[in-house]
Amino acid sequence: MESSYARTAQKNLAQSKKRTDTAVGLEDQSILVRDADIWNGNRFTKGSILIEKGRIKRIARRIINDGVETIKASGLKALPGLIDVHVHLRDMELAYKEDFASGTAAAAAGGFTSVLDMPNTVPPTDSAGRLIEKQIVAAQKTCVNIGFHAAAVSDSHDIDALARAGAFSLKLYLPKPIAPLDVRNDQAIEKMMRAAARIETPVTVHAEDLSASENTGQEDSFEQVSEARSPIFETRAVERLLRIEKKTRCKVHYCHLTLRSSLMKVDASTKSTSEVTPHHLLLSKKLLSSLGWRAWMVPPLRSEETRRSLLKSTLTGLASVIASDHAPHTIEEKDQSASKSPPGVPGLETTLPLMLTLANRQQLNLSLLVKLLCENPARVFGLKSKAKLRKGADGDLVLVDLKKKSRIDSSKFFSKAKFSPFDGFKTQGAVHTTIVGGKIVYREGEIVAREGSGSVLKRGFSS
Ligand SMILES: [Zn+2]
Repeated sequence: MESSYARTAQKNLAQSKKRTDTAVGLEDQSILVRDADIWNGNRFTKGSILIEKGRIKRIARRIINDGVETIKASGLKALPGLIDVHVHLRDMELAYKEDFASGTAAAAAGGFTSVLDMPNTVPPTDSAGRLIEKQIVAAQKTCVNIGFHAAAVSDSHDIDALARAGAFSLKLYLPKPIAPLDVRNDQAIEKMMRAAARIETPVTVHAEDLSASENTGQEDSFEQVSEARSPIFETRAVERLLRIEKKTRCKVHYCHLTLRSSLMKVDASTKSTSEVTPHHLLLSKKLLSSLGWRAWMVPPLRSEETRRSLLKSTLTGLASVIASDHAPHTIEEKDQSASKSPPGVPGLETTLPLMLTLANRQQLNLSLLVKLLCENPARVFGLKSKAKLRKGADGDLVLVDLKKKSRIDSSKFFSKAKFSPFDGFKTQGAVHTTIVGGKIVYREGEIVAREGSGSVLKRGFSS
């Protein structure tokens, strides 16, 4: 039976964690970050940060502590480690596209110290047993903190079991359910949301209602496949789910919204939160003719006018979260006819440089950047000890060189997916060092931590 399988898997996880903890104990580092500009929640102040046993021990103008590893951070900005709540790190049978080692290396290189992985894998994360199995595999490979979303399932006992195993949300993928759930039936969704609400687990939604779509599967250009997923499907899905959500007490997080009108509707509902991606903020569908599969994702890129109004709304604080929707595939899979090419692009290594570029252009203020990439993600998914640089908080931080100019080059990605619709983009602002749980994981172009040095996060278990 599933429950006994889950128990065995849980025991294995406890043992594997113990092994990791002992190993960490032997090389337990203290780190002193000296003379950085430290984000205090409102502004930067000059000072030093001492991290001990994985947590911030002290922040002060001057800390003298010989004998600990010191990072000279003069001229660098220290931000709380970023949190990407929407990534597809694949692994298991899809490890040829990405695995927990390569995906979390990409996260660290991009300044992300925590990621939440999506459940549409092979096998899917659709039961407590499978969730625990993923946690065990990830514990051996991850170099950042990693937690997992699970598939929205119909049985309320299964929902309870997923929550107990630490699922961060139930993902409702409207275009094609990950686990059996009659997504055309409002009552079925309502029942699932009620069960989720009872155990205070959020539901994350891919909001495209394609049931009335004319999609024939015969489209042969990337413009056509994108056109077949019109903005009206998003509008319809958001309105429908807000209607259902209202009858329950469920917290709903709307993934990768592309329309200003969607952000406004979600903003008006106190229980829900919204997410936008860098590609929908910065790219429009006119790129499809030149970039083809490199710019193919779902929801697809929109018109220039729609993109501008999404960006403007985000810059004025209407969206809750920016997430990369990092969705790696091989180039062989992507470079096929439009109807066969799988949607999705990698984003972990481009998100922060792109957002820092907006900050340097005075379009995005750093306070909002930290909110969108760190504070709000932590709040929405209950990561209480993260997203702040203060005594006692987790030792997760990123040192950023705000002045450094660079150019996006996907051939240098740590992700296995070495392509990007942003290739060649000029950026200003780069990740210098990423520290996860008090350990240096990424430094000036290199991953310096070993596989498995990160932790597995479970909702409801974090301090
Ligand atoms: Zn996704």
